[in-house]
Amino acid sequence: MKIAVASGKGGTGKTMVAANLAFTLSRTCQVTLVDCDVEEPNLHLFFPSPVTVTDVNIAVPVIDEKTCDRCGMCGEFCQYGALTVLRDRVLFFPELCHSCGGCTLVCPKNAIHEVPKRIGAVTFATVLPHLNLITGYLDAGNPHAVPVIRAAKKMAENDNLVICDASPGTSCPVVETLENCDACILVTESTPFGRHDLALAVDVTERLGIPAGVVINRSDGQDQETLDFCANHDLDVMITIPFDRRIAAIQSKGDLLCRVRPEWQKTFCSLFDKCRTLAGGD
Ligand code: SF4
Ligand code: SF4
Repeated sequence: MKIAVASGKGGTGKTMVAANLAFTLSRTCQVTLVDCDVEEPNLHLFFPSPVTVTDVNIAVPVIDEKTCDRCGMCGEFCQYGALTVLRDRVLFFPELCHSCGGCTLVCPKNAIHEVPKRIGAVTFATVLPHLNLITGYLDAGNPHAVPVIRAAKKMAENDNLVICDASPGTSCPVVETLENCDACILVTESTPFGRHDLALAVDVTERLGIPAGVVINRSDGQDQETLDFCANHDLDVMITIPFDRRIAAIQSKGDLLCRVRPEWQKTFCSLFDKCRTLAGGD
């Protein structure tokens, strides 16, 4: 079973929910936690451990100017504007290249070959006896988050219980994280901004056909508008976490709510049970 944890906006406590869920479940079964927030991964802060590192590369074209006759076919083919054929040379813009390989195939002169280019890395760590953490890291300034997320998820593809922490927002990296997940936990807070961005996130899960439920975090008890929104969209509010200085203090020390206050494990077990129901398991 694969569960995604997402949120329409940053700062809702999505990573905290993913970490506590994984920690709690790992006490009774094997769990893999995948940090897909590759531009700013921070799950490792909850689980400091030695890691093994694997580079993530994409293939980018190299043009042999001696063989190329500037026919223009590669430039016409590239839908991303990564190739511009001039009279005397071909310009390549690597930050625009999506590594589709098409230019190599269409070149009638076989003047293009591909070379690997590093865009990031994936690390693996066994952080608890039954919990593995896989983390994707996008190299600074690189725009290609999706292949790094794909590589991180691939490392967990044979695992039975996988929890993927998505980046905030609703852009391509979030869609890639949600792809092939059985259920999605949408973490929100009961503010107008929270509801606005929750609506965007719900739209994404609906379009992808992924069953979703909601966690309200930092609740001050004034949740009625969020509850109404969820009722109108057939979304189960799976758990509510109160606004509580003691919880904030635990997190600010980089610790886990369910480790410091084990009574919370019951709540996160019920969150998992509701994910299983969402996914059609029970
Ligand atoms: S398709 Fe090949 S030959 Fe034509 S411009 Fe591109 S690299 Fe040169
Ligand atoms: S590999 Fe694809 S995206 Fe990259 S330059 Fe070639 S055609 Fe464009």
